[in-house]
Amino acid sequence: MSFTERRSAGVPSELRERNLKTIIDVVFRYQPVSRTNIAKLTGISKPTVSKLVGLLMSENYIVKTGKTSSGLGKRQELLSFNPEKAFVISVDVGLATTIVAKVDLSMKMTNKCEIKTSESPERFASELVDCLSDFCGAGKESPASVVISVPGLVRSDLRTAINVPLLHWTDLPLAELVEERLRLNGIVCGVSINNDSKLGVLAEVALNKDIPDSFSNIVYVLVKEGVGVGLYINGSLYVGSNHIAGEFGHMSIDPKGPECSCGRRGCWLTMVGSRELDGFIRENRLEDYIELFSVGLMNIVNGLDPNLVVISGALEQYWERVLPSLRAKLKSIALFDQSSMEIMKSALDDREGPIFGGALMVLRKYLDIETGVL
Ligand SMILES: [Zn+2]
Repeated sequence: MSFTERRSAGVPSELRERNLKTIIDVVFRYQPVSRTNIAKLTGISKPTVSKLVGLLMSENYIVKTGKTSSGLGKRQELLSFNPEKAFVISVDVGLATTIVAKVDLSMKMTNKCEIKTSESPERFASELVDCLSDFCGAGKESPASVVISVPGLVRSDLRTAINVPLLHWTDLPLAELVEERLRLNGIVCGVSINNDSKLGVLAEVALNKDIPDSFSNIVYVLVKEGVGVGLYINGSLYVGSNHIAGEFGHMSIDPKGPECSCGRRGCWLTMVGSRELDGFIRENRLEDYIELFSVGLMNIVNGLDPNLVVISGALEQYWERVLPSLRAKLKSIALFDQSSMEIMKSALDDREGPIFGGALMVLRKYLDIETGVL
């Protein structure tokens, strides 16, 4: 009997699939985790959890990784995804360097290399594939997927980069280019691309255990050479109708401000990127930077009314000084009492966020397809 047949035996399939998806998400977030905790965290009954986890174990997607430490009560088996079962290659493209990482199903980064980012797409694809081929072993194990995070706009089919201004990439069929290179190297594997902030918010929501499950509206701000925003609205990733939602970096803060790559002037990202932050720091003017940063952030917060703002990237190194000042500035210009809105720094750094977000996205899809949820 196939996994799909056994999985659906005797239970309405829609409910079972929803339960399976929920369990998969909880294992990603809390692994290693016991069956009792999966039941507690999902609200799914213990017998159902045991049955579905049993199916995932019978196919080796989930394995035992130890027992809870002794205390009162019985020690319980801890479960994780099987690192041997599958891996993906997750890539984060930056202006200067590109990080290529091998991430296994248990969400461990087991290999990583950094290459210089080439503006020439052909050269970029060839250097990327050379680097990731080394991770596939002498036996040429194929990754389940390759996912590439870029600092720019991506078409909703997740194949084409519409615009990556820092690298002058426009309407670039990046996924196809890398797939072709992979084939030449004997690796048959699908490639997808996505925007770095969208992947960053995905990782934060799925993996940061400090974020309460009840928070369903989260704004993620990634401060690198530019500023990107990832949105998690009403409990899911929000991408808009053309997959470009979150381009708040191009909010005009000052119509007479510096020229932006979009052709307009005074966009928020031209004033609060990491290079601008360095400039303010050199002049000992962090407060002025925070002023500009909070003007843009307040516009987003007023428009979206989130439970939480997560900040990742360049600002994190000055966090002890940034947080109280940012809170005070936001309070002074708030439309209403937003004291319940939390601000925290990212649990992952500005490169790891998009890398784990990308890995998570494609590993979830792999599991959905392999276990018949889709
Ligand atoms: Zn702009």
